Amino acid sequence: MTEEGTATLTAAFTEAYRRAPEGVWHAPGRINVIGEHTDYNDGLVLPFALARGVSAAAARRDDGVLELRSLQAADAGVTVVLDGAGPETAGGWAERERWAAYPFGVAALLREHGVGGASVLFDSDLPQGAGLSSSAALECATALALCELYGLDGLAADRAGLARIAQRAENEYVGMPCGIMDQSASLLCTAGHALMLDCRTGLSAQVPLDLPGKDLALLVVNTRARHTLTDGGYGRRRAECERAAALLGVPALRDVKDLPAALDRLADPVLRRRVQHVVTENHRVEATAGLLRAGAETELGALLTASHLSLRDQYEISWPEADLTIDTALRAGARGGRMVGGGFGGSVIVLTATGRAERVRDAITAAYRERGLAEPEFVDAVPSPGARRLPAA
Ligand code: ADP
Ligand code: MG
Repeated sequence: MTEEGTATLTAAFTEAYRRAPEGVWHAPGRINVIGEHTDYNDGLVLPFALARGVSAAAARRDDGVLELRSLQAADAGVTVVLDGAGPETAGGWAERERWAAYPFGVAALLREHGVGGASVLFDSDLPQGAGLSSSAALECATALALCELYGLDGLAADRAGLARIAQRAENEYVGMPCGIMDQSASLLCTAGHALMLDCRTGLSAQVPLDLPGKDLALLVVNTRARHTLTDGGYGRRRAECERAAALLGVPALRDVKDLPAALDRLADPVLRRRVQHVVTENHRVEATAGLLRAGAETELGALLTASHLSLRDQYEISWPEADLTIDTALRAGARGGRMVGGGFGGSVIVLTATGRAERVRDAITAAYRERGLAEPEFVDAVPSPGARRLPAA
């Protein structure tokens, strides 16, 4: 968020609550470079933080009341007495107030650490529901703000612990069974790096990812096709992976070491394809991290495209706009790209030399127009800092 943005949010807070905020905190959205559908198989992911995110202006209240408002949900503020409130409290809220369950869940879970009431106003430049993780950004901005306001310096510094609290808020207060990737990325990422995260152990490592220095641009292309995780595709894939792991006698597909031997033991061709994707995708994450550690960012493209083909043909979750975007980008000279997220809609990422970015964008836009599709939206993704307090405006 710019200095101007901080000033605007501070003014909006003062207008809304008739007092000045004690500070403004920011938590970024994320994009996952590679490692798709590996998280729930106890595998590896490699996200980085975006420059865009959710900002929270906040001030303590001494009456134990939590007041939540968002500039993106102007007529749906929520006021809740924290004492005795739990997940069922949010369950009773009206549909338009449901957004507040994310920050309320975080505050409720932080009660036992000594957090009390607060007034919070959110602003965001992150599209919601586009797979850039606005929900984790909302949780993490709240978590850091409340910890720092209440002097919980130890907890604020334990970013991995804070990520687990934010994840629990989404699991228990929103009812979304998400993994730990989004919250870890928002809290642990640093500028110019991706985060190699082991979803089994929760351990992570910073991996250098210098795109501008290598004259590379990573474009996020919102294909505008809706992603509905509720149509059962996501749950079915998870169940298939669990069934395959059980048949193979391993705790998770992460543990498959000999791929041909594992495939031989599976009679169902569908399960064989799923295993093929998950096992090779984990290796692609390792290979990607290896290239990045060697400073070979320009070689990433082939791994991204290999991931896309695997998601399209083995995991079978791509969608026509995603395939069109990748095919068009490659023909226009991009280095590689892949679909991201749950599948069946949402965004794709495209890696291209900076000098070719405009040609690639134009080619994609033209291809959409030719087919009568809604214009795609482009976001330039630069590895940015994780959640932090912003300097006063
Ligand atoms: P994603 O995390 O990919 O953006 P989710 O469905 O997980 O998609 O989370 C989106 C939800 O998060 C929104 O529907 C809304 O409830 C909440 N949300 C995100 N950002 C804001 C915001 N700035 N103000 C209010 N609610 C927000
Ligand atoms: Mg989310």
